[in-house]
Order: sequence, then C-alpha cells, then structure tokens
Amino acid sequence: MPEKYDVIVIGSGLGGLSSAALLAKNGLSVLLLEKRELPGGCATGFIRGRFEFDASLHMLSGTDLERKTGNLIPYLEELGITKKVGFKKLKNVYQCVFPDFEITLPAGRENIENVLKENFPKDSEDITNFLNRMFATFETTNKFRKGDPSLTQEELSQNLLGYLGKTCAEIMYPEVKNPLVRAIISQLWMFLGLPPKKVDYIIFAVAMSHLFHYGGAQPKEKSHGFVAAFVELITEYGGEVRFGCGAKRILTEGDKVTGVLTDDDEQIKSDFIVSNANPITMSLDLIGADKIPITYFDKLRSNEVGISLIGVYMGLDVPYNKLGIKEFEIGLNDHPDFDKAYEKAFTLEEPEHQLITTYNLAYPDFTPPRTSIITLTAPSYADPWYNLPPHKYVETKNRLADQLITKAEKVAPGLREHVEVVEVFTPLTIMRYTGNHGGTYLGFSFSTAGTPPLRLSQEGPLKGLYLASAWSQPGGAYENCVLSGKAAAELIIAKKDEG
Ligand SMILES: Cc1cc2nc3c(=O)[nH]c(=O)nc-3n(C[C@H](O)[C@H](O)[C@H](O)COP(=O)(O)OP(=O)(O)OC[C@H]3O[C@@H](n4cnc5c(N)ncnc54)[C@H](O)[C@@H]3O)c2cc1C
Repeated sequence: MPEKYDVIVIGSGLGGLSSAALLAKNGLSVLLLEKRELPGGCATGFIRGRFEFDASLHMLSGTDLERKTGNLIPYLEELGITKKVGFKKLKNVYQCVFPDFEITLPAGRENIENVLKENFPKDSEDITNFLNRMFATFETTNKFRKGDPSLTQEELSQNLLGYLGKTCAEIMYPEVKNPLVRAIISQLWMFLGLPPKKVDYIIFAVAMSHLFHYGGAQPKEKSHGFVAAFVELITEYGGEVRFGCGAKRILTEGDKVTGVLTDDDEQIKSDFIVSNANPITMSLDLIGADKIPITYFDKLRSNEVGISLIGVYMGLDVPYNKLGIKEFEIGLNDHPDFDKAYEKAFTLEEPEHQLITTYNLAYPDFTPPRTSIITLTAPSYADPWYNLPPHKYVETKNRLADQLITKAEKVAPGLREHVEVVEVFTPLTIMRYTGNHGGTYLGFSFSTAGTPPLRLSQEGPLKGLYLASAWSQPGGAYENCVLSGKAAAELIIAKKDEG
C-alpha cells in the first residue's frame, strides 16, 4: 500500500467506478473505498431463491451498438468494459397500456412516427411537428457538446437556448393537443422523475429522442456483471478497491483536501478525492459545514432532491409468455394525465401509474428454465415514508405492493399465483443502499433548475475535491453517471499533467 495515493474515490456507484477505472488506466495510483460489501450503489443485483434480480436497470441509454456513436459505447470500449460485458438492444422501446387503449412503440424515429400516425391520423401534423422539434433539440445538443463547427448561432438559439427554463408541457402541450398522444410520447417520464409539467424540456427532448432513435439495451451480465467489470478493470490497471470500508471524514487543510479517514479510523493521504457519495452528505458529514464556502450551500439549495421509487421484484414459476406479456417495458396507466399521476408520489395511496419490466424479454436465459422475473415500479417520494410510524412500515409497503400486483394482473392475468419469491423496495431501501437523501436514484431533480448546465459541476467546493455521481453533471441514470465519472477523472488527469 503506498504512503499516499494519487486519488481516493469515495463510493463505488457508477460515477465512482467510472472515475477510478479511467484514473487507474491512466497510470494514477487509485484507492476506491466502498462502505457496502458490494459495488454498484443503485446499479446492483441480489439473489433470492433460484433467481438473480437486477436491482435497477430497465434500459441502458447511450447504446447505439451498431454505429457506436454517442458518448457511452466509445468510452466503455476505451476502458475495456465492452471486452467483458455484452449488450443486447431491446426491439421495442415500450408498450403503453391505458384502460381502453394499447400501443407499442418500436425503436427508430420513423417507426415511432408511423405507428403514432397510424393510430392517431387526425393528430398526424402535431405528431410530426413535435417529433421534429424534439429531434432538432437532440441533434443541436449533440453538435454543441462535440463543438461541431457546422453549428450556427441561429440553430443554437432556435433549437436549444430558446428552450432554457421551459418545461416539457410548455413546449409539448400547445403543439400536441390530444392528451393520449402526449401521454404516449411521455410514457417513460418516471425515467426522468418528473411529469411533463415539471420536467425540463431540453432534458426530456434529449433523453426521449435518444431512446426513441436508438432504443434501450441491457447488459448480458446484468447490472452486477456490468459493475463487476469496472472493479476487475480497476484492479487490472493497478488500482485498489476496498469493500466494507467507507470514508468517515474527508481530511482538509485550509481550502484543500489532504486525504480520508476511513470507517476503520485509518488516515490515508491524497491530494485528490472523487466523491461518489452525495454532495449533501459529503459537505455536512464528511467534511463539515465550517470548512466549505457558504456559496456552495447556496448551490446545493438551488436544486431540489429528486424523486424515489417503490417497487416489487418477483421471481415467477412460469415463463412470462404464459401470462400474456409481450413487451419488455410496459407502462400501465389508470389514465393519460401523468401530471396528476405524479401527485400520488407524495402520498402512500395506490399509484395511478407503474412500469412492468420483464427481464426475460431481453435475455430468455435471464432466469432458470420455465421461470421468469418481472418487476413493478412506481414513483414515490421519501417524505410520506419518513412520516410513517416504524410499526406501520412493513404493512404499508406490502399493501402498496399488493395494489401494484393486482393492477399488473390486467396485463398479466394470474400473475399473483405464480409468484415464487418476492421482495418489495421503498425510498428507504434505496436510501439504505446508497446513502442518498430522499432515496433518490436521480440525484437532484431534472426540473428546469436541474438542467445539465445548472447542475453541480464535477469541481467540488475545495481544491482537489471532485464529484462523480447522479448529483453532478450531467445527472442521474447509468449513462450519465458513467460520464460524470469520466469528466471528473479527466479534470484530475489534466491537473496532474499541469504538475
Ligand atoms: C429501481 C431503479 C431503477 C432504475 N432504472 C434505471 C434505468 O432503467 N436506466 C438508467 O439509466 N438508470 C436507472 N436507474 C438510475 C441509476 O441506477 C442511478 O442513477 C445510478 O446508478 C446512480 O449512480 P451514482 O454514481 O450516483 O451512485 P449511487 O448509486 O448513488 O451509489 C453511491 C455509492 O456510494 C457509496 N457511498 C456513499 N457514501 C459513502 C462513504 N462515505 N464511503 C464509501 N462509500 C460511500 C454507496 O454505498 C454507494 O455504493 C434506476 C435506479 C433505481 C433505484
């Protein structure tokens, strides 16, 4: 063990793993500390009975597997992850189920436009106009990120800057009059944690255009295999990873970091620290408010903590197709008003919207023969769970799980009789496994205040301190967190090169 590491990374969520892997690949001595016994944070898995569950991933974005454009796949190739993990593209993006209407959107912008127009001929013009608008924002954002010289000022203003501070509803609702069409286009709002009236338009347009165009993907080795590949690479590149050993304090001298005090009370020196732990805990508990510039707290306060989830993981003693399920991701909705459905997330009442994810539709051998895994997920804030007396917790989560299963039987009749193992999670579960405030999986929310340029940057409040997680730019989700880690590592490598 060296006397002093070039970099200490706190937390092995995707942001931390990505940073540590890139830093180690560049020859820096890296120590990754993870307080849990397993890597991944949200990006993890667990075993119950004969089933291995993926705890989080529905769809990996940024996976244009054929042309390898975009930011994620080329980076995973550069690191060596794609040599260890295979990806499979999902055929369709999702199925929407409403009480009296169902539709499936295949991947590909034209395919989606055609399916929508066939189903809603009277809304054809609205559909084309809005998809054109969304994709123009997506393409301009890509050009902007890459510094593409063909990007004109007019294009930048018209497709991107003009939308700053606008919600999705402000742009979409005047253009798309049919509430059902609006709902179909925004079915995956839970991926962004906010419904159309709250979510930032640019984030919505970029995320949805990407998923519509390229579709989503699943790693063949599940989330655990994906994060285990990062851990393997870190050690192959000479880095060190310690599990069950968290950082208790970040040590400082004046305005710079000097190392870490571990949970085992060991002091380890380093001039550079990457925090994958959330910035609120980092500032208040790991460093201490008195050591942080007051302006940093203004930045923290100007963002709101994102939403969380409740959900049910089920291992079934029957193949999914025997239950009539045909699509990997199904949005099951009581009605098409997602702004209204969102309000339930502030309560412990029955959700009006849920996602049903059937993992065997990505990989038939995801589970043992003649079985399948289905998960049910609904939006939920942590506040009502905090306010619940402890003795009501189990009863409440089981009631909500029961309600989600009963509703899911609309698309999977007989589901309940085939549940062999079941686990229920709440915002408190996510909080326990990640340390994230509010049990959020997205860091700060994607409201208009949480649009990427306004989010916390990778540079932390002290010299040598960097952030890499859902909380910093560009935001939550697998792709974003991996890229956040890359950005933090690149800043450190550049500083080291400066000497
Ligand atoms: C149910 C669910 C479904 C999801 N579905 C999708 C999806 O389909 N597609 C998608 O792209 N994203 C999805 N996400 C979101 C995605 O999983 C997260 O945004 C992402 O994994 C967060 O990564 P992170 O880098 O912020 O780290 P986190 O996951 O927040 O992990 C932080 C890590 O830091 C560790 N840590 C904290 N404090 C310390 C300390 N003091 N010392 C040492 N270690 C510490 C924690 O133990 C943890 O391991 C989903 C999330 C959930 C929960």
